[in-house]
Amino acid sequence: MCGIVGMVSDSPVNQRLYDALLLLQHRGQDAAGIATLDGLTFHQHKAMGLVREVFRTRNMRNLLGNAGIAHTRYPTAGCSTSSDEAQPFYVNAPYGIMFAHNGNLTNASRLKQELYELDHRHINTSSDSEALLNVLADEISHLVVGTTLTAEKAFQAVRGVHKRIRGGYSCVALIAGKGLLAFRDPNGIRPLCYGSYTNERGFTEYMVASESVALTGTGFNFEDDVKPGEAIWIDLNGNIERCQCAENPKLTPCAFELVYFARPDSVLDGISVYGARLRLGEYLADTVAHEIELKDIDVVMPVPDSARPCAQQLASRLNLPYREGLIKNRYVGRTFIMPGQTVRKKSVRQKLNPMPVEFKDKNVLLVDDSIVRGTTMGEIVAMARSAGAKKVYVASSAPRVCFPNVYGIDMPTRSELLCGDGKGADEVARIIGADKVVYQTIDGLKGALSDMNPAISDFDCSCFDGRYVTGDIDDAYLSQLEEEKRLAKEADKRRKAEED
Ligand code: AMP
Repeated sequence: MCGIVGMVSDSPVNQRLYDALLLLQHRGQDAAGIATLDGLTFHQHKAMGLVREVFRTRNMRNLLGNAGIAHTRYPTAGCSTSSDEAQPFYVNAPYGIMFAHNGNLTNASRLKQELYELDHRHINTSSDSEALLNVLADEISHLVVGTTLTAEKAFQAVRGVHKRIRGGYSCVALIAGKGLLAFRDPNGIRPLCYGSYTNERGFTEYMVASESVALTGTGFNFEDDVKPGEAIWIDLNGNIERCQCAENPKLTPCAFELVYFARPDSVLDGISVYGARLRLGEYLADTVAHEIELKDIDVVMPVPDSARPCAQQLASRLNLPYREGLIKNRYVGRTFIMPGQTVRKKSVRQKLNPMPVEFKDKNVLLVDDSIVRGTTMGEIVAMARSAGAKKVYVASSAPRVCFPNVYGIDMPTRSELLCGDGKGADEVARIIGADKVVYQTIDGLKGALSDMNPAISDFDCSCFDGRYVTGDIDDAYLSQLEEEKRLAKEADKRRKAEED
């Protein structure tokens, strides 16, 4: 998962790109980068680390120009410790293109082969984003022979890109001397939206971003979501054009963004993330009421932070007391972003501290957004028991995570997923040491999300139901993915060992 931003203005964009990246920091804490366009010169700074660590005053000063793109990275493909894979990526022809991508391509290995053998383009990282950039560059270069790049040509290039690539992708590309091109995959799996602001000089500035919070938090007015398959072209004078570039676009946004990943104060495809989490709590409450004797629950507790709205709404619907029994240390970071199982386990304890007074002699219902590997919940249940809980029930706002995510959420491989082999709730309860585990149903998940925007009839729920909307995922692909992840992990280990 990553966060992307693009901006066109009549004044320097560096500070606002930085501010927008900070607002998207939750989407990736591994690396960050900004590229700006100053005349025909690109300036760029990117490195491993959090946004505030990557950019120093001297780096910011060098990022001159009135148009730019930015990226915050969470490694979904490639190695997590390699700064070579930090974005934006650059190609020098045609024109010079800086590029940032959120998502994951499902036909990346074939593309890389094609790019090398047919288009004679070399991809030097294991990143699918570099392949995607080269496909875009290749499409544009064919269209501008003997002529120049216009909005129409840029849209034609995106049409070509959609035909060649598969997967989930939201992208921003800054083309030297020309403008900013943003586009979203034909299923709208990954989010992308844009906003405008007419400044005191009367110039309408534009920002494109992964989540609406990046726009509203930097003073832009939210305009619209980029539609699935759509491309937006903003020239360097601030003229904007939109065009549908896919043959059969169908909005199927990623359910996991709404359940867990996106910031609650964002609105994605017309769905308030916070509102969706409240609604999920209502549906989950109904399932809990079926499965657990309500008089046997003394208190409902969230696993902070993302499960809080769900837990609050669940407690209120079931008329049960709600308490905060686990206090989060905000300065540790998200556990899943730290690679490695041992680190992850330890960091759960560092991150969450139970208050015994809230647990002692009580039957607690812990509510979390999801159970993925089960490490987090296993540790929390053990903490609840040692803090004095009598019974520990667990409710998950998401259904059982049984399948890997191939569209840009870094889901573990099948063998690492707790329910990757189809385990049921009772077996999960036994493994994590809970008295009972209740999962949201898939219908409950879909119902809650489409209640928030009835115009959306389908969501990408592939990690829950194994139905991959791009239609190109089979066992062989998942095995290949596992092998790639294994190799990437080994490379990471080697690199770390060399550094030590
Ligand atoms: P675990 O079950 O130990 O993998 O941890 C699951 C917790 O990590 C959930 O409560 C989520 O808050 C968070 N999480 C969400 N998505 C992911 C993911 N893709 N990979 C790992 N952890 C995630």
